[in-house]
Amino acid sequence: MKGPDTVLVVGAGLAGSRVAETLRDEGFDGRVLVVGDESHPPYERPALSKEVLAGRRDPGSLVLRSVGRFDELEIELRTRTAAVRLEPGRAVLSDGSEVGWSALVLATGSAARRLPAPAPAGVHVVRTLEDALGLRRELGPGRRLAVAGAGLVGCEVATTASRLGADVTLIDRGLPLERLVGREGAELLAERHRAEGVTLRTGGAATGFTHGAGGRVSSVLLDDGGRVGCDAAVVSIGCRPSSELLGVHGGVPTDACGRTGLPAIYAAGDVALAPNPWTSRPASAGHWTAAAGLATAAARAVLGEHAPYEAPPSWWSDQAGLRLQFVGAPDGWATSEIDGGTTSFAVRYLDASGAVVAGLFANRAADYAALRRELARGLTAAAA
Ligand SMILES: Cc1cc2nc3c(=O)[nH]c(=O)nc-3n(C[C@H](O)[C@H](O)[C@H](O)COP(=O)(O)OP(=O)(O)OC[C@H]3O[C@@H](n4cnc5c(N)ncnc54)[C@H](O)[C@@H]3O)c2cc1C
Repeated sequence: MKGPDTVLVVGAGLAGSRVAETLRDEGFDGRVLVVGDESHPPYERPALSKEVLAGRRDPGSLVLRSVGRFDELEIELRTRTAAVRLEPGRAVLSDGSEVGWSALVLATGSAARRLPAPAPAGVHVVRTLEDALGLRRELGPGRRLAVAGAGLVGCEVATTASRLGADVTLIDRGLPLERLVGREGAELLAERHRAEGVTLRTGGAATGFTHGAGGRVSSVLLDDGGRVGCDAAVVSIGCRPSSELLGVHGGVPTDACGRTGLPAIYAAGDVALAPNPWTSRPASAGHWTAAAGLATAAARAVLGEHAPYEAPPSWWSDQAGLRLQFVGAPDGWATSEIDGGTTSFAVRYLDASGAVVAGLFANRAADYAALRRELARGLTAAAA
């Protein structure tokens, strides 16, 4: 047998399931135990703020692999079970049991950030299936929804809710996705959001709430003195990697293979802060493709292989009738060039030498794929 006797994977999300499957794909025949604190087998989180909220996906269809598939691969999956304490070679679980491990992969993902102010009833975040279903019950024609934070999840929630007939206000200091795509791209997106009926409330950030009848939220308070009246609110101000089990906050530093530097302990997915040739400092992936890629690399590292994950960062998003796809360096651009209009466009980001280092594409899948290939080829050439 190659590798350790027992691999314990903590976290049954995308990264956890990818680690377990890769171990088997690579021929590992020892024990693989995946523990997850949610009540579901690993599922597709990206659909939560899109099809699930829109009512177009049945929750049962979100599972990444059926429980039968885990059985076939002899992967033990324990849902509704958290790891509560880690010790060398041993973990204590929330049901009081203990498991021994010879390698451990932390794949605990992230938790939605919340405002420091107390949140009354009617205030939501969207990280889990239950969160999305709870928010969906609040939406409908004429309902006033305030969305605090115009990042990926906030923008998706805002336009999905607007299409369900809700009267939506999206609150952020800047324009939709401005921190991710820069001013010019964000201006195009702002136009699309307005055309979808979303009111953009810029210039201030949410700080708290007022309580109305029955203790429910009645408005969101802003740091510029303003307030946005609402029947329900969503806080979408980013995520915090869930790394407390290893005694660190804000993510677990790893190499590009998910090795933590602690003996036989690896981290993968959103919880890991991994270096990438495209980013100035190690950062949480925060997106699907990198979470999965680092998980594959970590599983191989468990087996003693060296297969660093170094692909150009990328993400996608569906909002305001656009399939957005981004690839490349997430910052440090000198300038950008736009072609197209609000229903189909490309923003190419250039460095100081005039080389394209990233691109944002709206309803232009072929252009996105071409730049992705080009950037990956450039990286391979640079490494040769
Ligand atoms: C609403 C939403 C929409 C998204 N949309 C997109 C998108 O369009 N495109 C894109 O690229 N990315 C998107 N993402 C990001 C993508 O889903 C994440 O990057 C990916 O899910 C990360 O996988 P992960 O396995 O690292 O973490 P997670 O999927 O969060 O899984 C971690 C699991 O570990 C569990 N856990 C935590 N602590 C413990 C513990 N102590 N014991 C046991 N279990 C524990 C958690 O409850 C969770 O089930 C979206 C995310 C969200 C929330």
